[in-house]
Amino acid sequence: MDLEEHTLETVGDTCEVCGVRLTTAEQQAVLESGGPALCTVHAAEELPDAAEDAAPSPAE
Ligand SMILES: [Zn+2]
Repeated sequence: MDLEEHTLETVGDTCEVCGVRLTTAEQQAVLESGGPALCTVHAAEELPDAAEDAAPSPAE
């Protein structure tokens, strides 16, 4: 019997930031976005479009 659930874990099963186990919906979102495995919280933080932090223009 080698049906240990632990062996079924793959990259993308947990948040790369906090390591929380992703829900089915979260994993689906990762697959659809093609981005890194992130929970909803960190996925929102990692969204490039959400990077508008009113950052002062760098010297460029
Ligand atoms: Zn996270």
